[in-house]
Amino acid sequence: MIDAGTPSFPEAARTALADAQLRHNLGHATQTIRAKRAAVVAEVPDWQELREAGRAVKERVLRHLDQHLIGLEESVTRAGGIVHWARDGEECNRIVGDIIAGHGVDEVVKAKSLTTEETRLNEALAERGIRAWETDLAQLIIQLGDDMPSHILVPAIHKNREQIRALFARTLSEASPDLTDDPRELAETARRHLRKLFLGARVGISGVNFAVADTGTVSVVESEGNGRMCTTLPEVLISVMGIEKVVPTWEDLEVYLQLLPRSSTAERMNPYTSLWTGVTDGDGPREFHLVLIDNGRTHVLADEIGRQALNCIRCSACLNVCPVYERTGGHAYGSTYPGPIGAILTPMLTGMTAAKSLPYASSLCGACYEVCPVKINIPEVLVHLRHEEVKASTRARGVRERLSPEHAAMRAMARVFASRRLYEAAQRAGRLAQWPLVRDGKIRRLPGPLRGWTAARDLPAVPSQSFRDWWRDRS
Ligand code: SF4
Repeated sequence: MIDAGTPSFPEAARTALADAQLRHNLGHATQTIRAKRAAVVAEVPDWQELREAGRAVKERVLRHLDQHLIGLEESVTRAGGIVHWARDGEECNRIVGDIIAGHGVDEVVKAKSLTTEETRLNEALAERGIRAWETDLAQLIIQLGDDMPSHILVPAIHKNREQIRALFARTLSEASPDLTDDPRELAETARRHLRKLFLGARVGISGVNFAVADTGTVSVVESEGNGRMCTTLPEVLISVMGIEKVVPTWEDLEVYLQLLPRSSTAERMNPYTSLWTGVTDGDGPREFHLVLIDNGRTHVLADEIGRQALNCIRCSACLNVCPVYERTGGHAYGSTYPGPIGAILTPMLTGMTAAKSLPYASSLCGACYEVCPVKINIPEVLVHLRHEEVKASTRARGVRERLSPEHAAMRAMARVFASRRLYEAAQRAGRLAQWPLVRDGKIRRLPGPLRGWTAARDLPAVPSQSFRDWWRDRS
């Protein structure tokens, strides 16, 4: 999920921030989608109750995850499907590759799937001589440009229409010589390219949004219809599903089918909600494989605070409101899951060594928590992971946590903040000590070990009059 040699978030963010075109594309796209989401969410009078239901169902599922997964396996098998279990990405890729090779096929069509991005399935299949064609329009753009996705829902959010026109003109034989950047023309070009692939494919691969344990029904929700083509036209369908995607019943599914479209694409319902149960004679694929993958999820489940990240329904609302994401874009996170959800999920799935800078990729403003349709308290998990990271790095430096400078500084701050007398004394001392550093009401550079704080931001100066002093003067 994070490749060796991937730069840390601060390094990659610095490069992204220098790209004015990228910032313009991202700012425009996220502001538009934010406004649309807010409007459709405001139409639902019981939105908060719906969010609470979404959170509660997921929590219940996670408490009995083993039972729900075994129930799902039984239901899928009863309906004629074949269930596989994969401990990690490598095992998942091997299972999928073996199924494809078993059918003597060297080309497959793929619906958009974050889980297979996580396992680097395309690359693993390519090593076995199998070409996986992405069919989601944005994923296709990424694949043709040999690029990386930068958003969960809109992987090519960093590209504008002109960049896509140039890419299609260069890479697709279906592009007319006078192709313009009109979205209709671009979509039509992609459609002509994809139709041929859909009609010729014998094996399709998809992800899974939800799977109902009661009946073994699997669901994919999407906006373009390519997912439905992938899951219905080929003879063989392979769906790869993270183990946290199971829901017990159709009533539970109903909650998420209301929460997801408004939070993700700002639509009242998904344009395409595909649901299938095993295999049916004369209708759809004749062979259905469901690959259930762990890949670090049970490790996340073991973390009492962090496990709420498994509630995520990948709507991307938290990305669209995040001030950090809006400025850096998704590539800076260096992972399949960018934005606030990536900042908590990636370090827990991959381990803190590879992703230790990600929990710091946040201003802790709380906007992500406010919009999350399943109420994941992302700031709480970020702080928890920062604590874990500090503990691990102090241990690695051979310093006992209680003796580390950070720990001593935090203890001192806690004492100051707990006492009005000490707090006011600290304010007075700060006012005096800061005078050589203040310019235009701001401190741009702190001295000594504190300089890291001002490396990327200004510090507001302690005001000449505190709120309490102001209040006292008027009472
Ligand atoms: S964390 Fe919440 S808001 Fe973010 S993608 Fe997941 S469900 Fe959506």
